[in-house]
Amino acid sequence: MFTYNNPVKIHFGQGVFARLNEFINEYDYESMIVVASNSQVESGVVNLIKSDLGDKVKAVVSGIEPNPTTQNVEAITQEMYAHNAHAVIAVGGGSAMDASKAAAAAYMQGISAVDLLDHDDFTKALPVIAIPTTSGSASEVTPTGVISDKENELKIPLIGAGLYPKAAIVDPELTLTCTQSVTAISGIDVICHALDALGAMKNNPVSDSLAVRAARLAFDNLETAYNEPSNREARRNMSLGSMLAGLAFSQTGTSGSHAMSYYLTSHYDVPHGEACAFSLDEWFVINSKVNPELNQHAMDIGFDSAETLGQAFNDLKKKVGLRSTLAELEIERSDIDKIAEESLKSANMKNNIAQLEKPEVAGLLKRK
Ligand SMILES: [Zn+2]
Repeated sequence: MFTYNNPVKIHFGQGVFARLNEFINEYDYESMIVVASNSQVESGVVNLIKSDLGDKVKAVVSGIEPNPTTQNVEAITQEMYAHNAHAVIAVGGGSAMDASKAAAAAYMQGISAVDLLDHDDFTKALPVIAIPTTSGSASEVTPTGVISDKENELKIPLIGAGLYPKAAIVDPELTLTCTQSVTAISGIDVICHALDALGAMKNNPVSDSLAVRAARLAFDNLETAYNEPSNREARRNMSLGSMLAGLAFSQTGTSGSHAMSYYLTSHYDVPHGEACAFSLDEWFVINSKVNPELNQHAMDIGFDSAETLGQAFNDLKKKVGLRSTLAELEIERSDIDKIAEESLKSANMKNNIAQLEKPEVAGLLKRK
């Protein structure tokens, strides 16, 4: 038995961003806060939103850090209180969307951003309209958000049905301005989401189908999107792949590669997608030993087996300029034990179908 439920209303396609006002008019939002990454302020997208929605937009909050902090969240909730907000429009990559979701929950529940760190009820939040401008995080269709506790060097995942955006407006045209590095780092995360969903305890036939299609789209299009930033077909396929992977892991959660990524990001500043991709090949092969069906999924994605998929994944990383070894990440081999220990503490490690002990996790790292 399984259940699939994703409540996000999705508007997908080239040019859908121009219909923002029409989509927003389905709701009675008279007071909205826009949360935007700096690049969307600079590119003029925020101005387009303001001219489209007029005085319904009460404030714009930008300057969201790549790993959004409690201070970023607090800046958003302050504007929500000041303007009695009905909704928040998040435009940008995962950081803008995650910070908006966290603020939407804090505001609705009357708690501070810092209180979110050990809060576990995310059933209620202010409605979020998510407009992704990168292909990767898929935060526009998931009930999760990650915020950083800088003081304690922790990345805290927030999970709850209230964190699903009300609507996602996914326009691949908005990704045409992504830099090569953003394209690579966020694009590789699409494959991490898809394969983590396949290797999750909570996988089901619907999430598997979405994940396989998502992985195939990313394997087939990431290199082109990286080398030819204005290739509309590649950009469209990456946006679609990202969203489908999100629809998969919105049900299953993420598993091994994400569980191992948090410490790499919070302690060594490795960007999220690159941190997940660092160990993904290993997790997929390890998981295929527990569930041989993963070899069939690898074939459906376009490879002979889980192993060949893992090799192809590492080749793809090189082609898009991502690092693959501890040495390249400038991490000392003497840190391996600590990384293994911290990775095992992540909640999503329990969601990985292969349950490894610390020496095996350390062994995985030693091969890097
Ligand atoms: Zn991710």
